[in-house]
Amino acid sequence: MKPKSFLKNLYYTGLDLAGFTRKRIATFQQQVVGLTYHSVIPESEKFQRYDYRNCVTTRHFDRQIKILKNLYDVVSIEDLSQIFTSGRINGRYAFISFDDGFTNNFKYALPVLKENNVPAVFYINTGYIGKNRLLWTEFITAALIFTAVKSLSLTLNREHLFDLSTPAGQLKASVEIRNYLKQKTFSEAEEIMALIKKQTGTENLSPEIDADRYRFMNWDEVQAMSDLGMIIGSHTHEHMLLNMIPEEQAETELTISKKLIEDHTGQVCRHFSYPNGSPGNFGQNHFRLLERLGYATAATQIKGFNHIGSNPYALSRFNISHQLSRAEFKAMISGFFRSEYSYD
Ligand SMILES: [Zn+2]
Repeated sequence: MKPKSFLKNLYYTGLDLAGFTRKRIATFQQQVVGLTYHSVIPESEKFQRYDYRNCVTTRHFDRQIKILKNLYDVVSIEDLSQIFTSGRINGRYAFISFDDGFTNNFKYALPVLKENNVPAVFYINTGYIGKNRLLWTEFITAALIFTAVKSLSLTLNREHLFDLSTPAGQLKASVEIRNYLKQKTFSEAEEIMALIKKQTGTENLSPEIDADRYRFMNWDEVQAMSDLGMIIGSHTHEHMLLNMIPEEQAETELTISKKLIEDHTGQVCRHFSYPNGSPGNFGQNHFRLLERLGYATAATQIKGFNHIGSNPYALSRFNISHQLSRAEFKAMISGFFRSEYSYD
C-alpha cells in the first residue's frame, strides 16, 4: 500500500471504528444508493495494471455485497422504479448495477450475487454481445498497452508525440486520447482510432488477449442471467456516448438495443445507463427520448444518493472502480468517501 493510501485507509478505518459510518447511514431513512461495477475477476497481479482500473476481485465483491446487505435493503432496479412511482420510500435501499456486459459478469459476479441472494441490473452494449470485439474505449487502452511500438504521433487539438515506452507513458496517453475523443463526434473518434490501429499495428487486437477482462457475454449467458431474475438493461447498442451522436442516432441506439434485449430475454427492457454517464454525456432531450421509447429509469455516473423526487432518468451511482478496503467501501456508501477514478 502506498503511504497516501495507507493514511487514507487509516482515516476511514478510524471513522468506521468510531461508529460514524453506521450512524450516518442510520440517518438515511429515505435514500437510495446505487453502485456501478464493470468487471469482477479473481485476484491476480494484473490488478496492478491500468486497464484493470474498473475491476474488483471476486473476494472484494463478495465482501462488499455482504456489507451492503447489512446496511441497506438491496432491491432490483425494477422494484426501485415502482417505489419511485409510488412516491413513498420507507427505509433505505440499494441497487447493484453492471455496465458494458463483460463475460466476467456471468462467470464470476453472478455466482456471488446468487450466493448472497441479491438482484442486480446488467446494462449491456447489445452490439458487442457474442461478438469478438473490443469495446471502443477499451481498444484505445489495450492498443497502447499491447503494442510493440514505443511512441505514437497524433494530432488532437495540437500535435502530440506520445511516449509509450513506459506503463506511465501508456497510461497518460490513454487518458488524454480517450478524454479528447469523448468530446468529439463518433465519426471523428473513428478516424483517430484508425490512425492508432495503423501506427501501433493492432489491427488484429481481439478480446482474447485477456478474455476474462475484455470478452463480452454471449446471448445464452445474457438469457441465463435474465432467467435467474437478473434485470437486463441497455447501455446503447454500440457504447455510444450520447453527446457524440445526433439525436436520431441516439434514438436508433436506444431502440435497437431495447428490441434485441426483449427478443433474447422475453422480458420488457425498461432500464438504461448512459455510457460514461458524466453530466456532459447526456441532456434533457435524452430524458424525453427515453420516456417516449418506454424506458422507466436511466442511471448516470454522477456520485450521490437518490430520493423521492429524483429524476428517474438521471439516477446517481457510485463507481466501484478499484480495490477499496472495507472501511473505504463503507465510507463510500455512507457518502464520506469519493473515488477519484474514471469510468466508461
Ligand atoms: Zn460503459
